[in-house]
Amino acid sequence: MSSYDFDLFVIGAGSGGVRASRMAAAMGAKVAVAEERHLGGTCVNIGCVPKKLMVYASHFAEEFEDAAGFGWTVGPRNFDWSTLIANKNCEITRLNGIYERLLTDAGVEIVEGRAVLEGPHSVVVAGRRITAKYILIATGGLPVRPTEPGQELGIVSDDVFFLEKQPERLLVAGGGYIAVEFAGVFAGLGSKVTQLYRGDLFLRGFDDDLRKALAAEMPKKHVDLRFKTIIEWTVKTSNGLLAELSGGQTLEVDQILYAIGRRPNTAALGLEAAGVAVDGKGGIVVDAHFRTSVPSIYALGDVTNRVQLTPVALAEGMAVAKTLFGGQPTSVDYADIPTAVFSQPPIGTVGLSEAVARKLYGAVDIYRSSFRPMKHTLSGRDETTMMKLVVERQTQRVVGAHMLGPDAAEIVQGLGIALKAGATKQVFDATIGIHPTAAEEFVTMRERLPDPEEAKAAE
Ligand code: FAD
Repeated sequence: MSSYDFDLFVIGAGSGGVRASRMAAAMGAKVAVAEERHLGGTCVNIGCVPKKLMVYASHFAEEFEDAAGFGWTVGPRNFDWSTLIANKNCEITRLNGIYERLLTDAGVEIVEGRAVLEGPHSVVVAGRRITAKYILIATGGLPVRPTEPGQELGIVSDDVFFLEKQPERLLVAGGGYIAVEFAGVFAGLGSKVTQLYRGDLFLRGFDDDLRKALAAEMPKKHVDLRFKTIIEWTVKTSNGLLAELSGGQTLEVDQILYAIGRRPNTAALGLEAAGVAVDGKGGIVVDAHFRTSVPSIYALGDVTNRVQLTPVALAEGMAVAKTLFGGQPTSVDYADIPTAVFSQPPIGTVGLSEAVARKLYGAVDIYRSSFRPMKHTLSGRDETTMMKLVVERQTQRVVGAHMLGPDAAEIVQGLGIALKAGATKQVFDATIGIHPTAAEEFVTMRERLPDPEEAKAAE
C-alpha cells in the first residue's frame, strides 16, 4: 500500500487540472484536486464561456438591423446589462455544479482552498498537510497589469464579467485576441469603444492578411482603432477617467480595460521550496511528458506558458493521466492547432501564416478570396469575408488555412482535420462544395496569387 495520502494531487481545478484528475481516477488512481476559486477555472468562469455568451449578446444589435433588408420590422429595442450578467452568472453556476459532479462521480476528492507546495511529495491546503506520489501543477495564468501612473483605475479581463454597469465609453488597451474580442463585444452592445495598441498592427503572430482584414472591418463596427498608441497616465475626473495617450491627446472614458497579456500563475506557490524550475517568463519548465525539474511534480496548461488554449490544456491533462497511470507515456502534438478569435467578424485559423510558411519552405503558393457574404446582399451591410490557403509549393500540401468572416471558427475546425491529415491542394480541389455557403470557397479557390519573387524578377 502507498505511504502517500493520494497517488495524484492536482493544484487547480481548471481545464487541464479537472481533465487530468478525472482521467487519472478513471484509471484507478486515488486523486484529490485543490481549487481556491471556482471549479472549471478560467475558461468556465472568467474566460471562453462567459466571453462567448457576451459575444452572442453583442451580435443581436446587427441582427436586428440586418433583418430590415429581409422584410422584418423590428420594434424598439433596449439592452439591459444586468440581465445579461445575471443570466450569465446562472449558467456559470450550473457549469460549476456539473464540474463538481464530474469530479465526485469519478471519485476525486475536492479540497477547497489555496494549495502551496512544501516539497516533492507534499502540499499544504488551509493548514492541512497532504502527501502524494505525484503532484500536478495546473494553476493557469493571470492577466498582466501595466505600470503607468493611474493604471489601478482600470480593470482587467477577470473584472469585466462582473461590472455592475456597462461602460458607455470604454478604452481597451492591448492588441491580443482578448483585447480584440472585448472591443467587439462592447461596441456591439452600444458602448463607444476605442482600442489602442502599441505596435503597427494587432494580433501579432496571426497571418498578416487576417490582421489587415480585421483592422479594416472593426472601424465599420464603430471601434475606434488606434495603433502605435499607448496610455501615458490616467486620472479620475468627475465624469469618469481621463487618459493621456502617447502623442499628447487625451481621452475621457468610463472604463479602461487592460488586455495586455497573461503570465503564469506561480507566485507564492512554493516552487522554490520544492525545487521546481521556471523559465525567464515565470513559466514552469516541463519535458515532453509534462515532468518538471522535480521528478514527482508535473505541470500543464497556461502555467507552462506555451499554447494557452483550453483544448490544449485538456489534451495535456489526458496525456499526464495516461503517462502516470495508463502505462503509456504520452505527449501532445502541437502542430496545426486550429484556433479562433471571436472578433466581429470572427477569425478561424489553422496551420502556418504566409510569413512563417515562406520562412520554413521558401516557395509557397497563396490562394486568397475576398467577397461580400450572401446575407449582406439583402441586409446592405458593408462587410467583407476573407479566406486564404497557404500551400507548400513542392509537395502541394496545404499548410495554412485562414478565414475572417461569419462562422469562421465553425468552418475552420473541419479544415483542421484536413491539415492534420496532410491534405494537398488537389484534395481540396477534388472536394465538392456545399452550396450556397461561404465555406465552399475553401474548395473552389483555383487562382494562385502572383508570386512576389516571380513578379519582382519579371520587372
Ligand atoms: P485555468 O483554467 O486557469 O485553471 C487554473 C485554476 O487553478 C483556477 O481555477 C485557479 O483558481 C486555480 N488555482 C490557481 N492557483 C491555485 C492554488 N495555489 N491552489 C488552488 N487552486 C489554484 N481558450 C480557448 O481555447 N478559447 C477561448 O475562446 C478562450 N477565451 C479566453 C478568454 C479570456 C478572457 C481568457 C482569460 C482566457 C481565454 N482562453 C480561451 C484561455 C483558456 O481559458 C486557458 O487556456 C485555460 O483555461 C487554461 O487552463 P488551465 O488548466 O491551464 O488553467
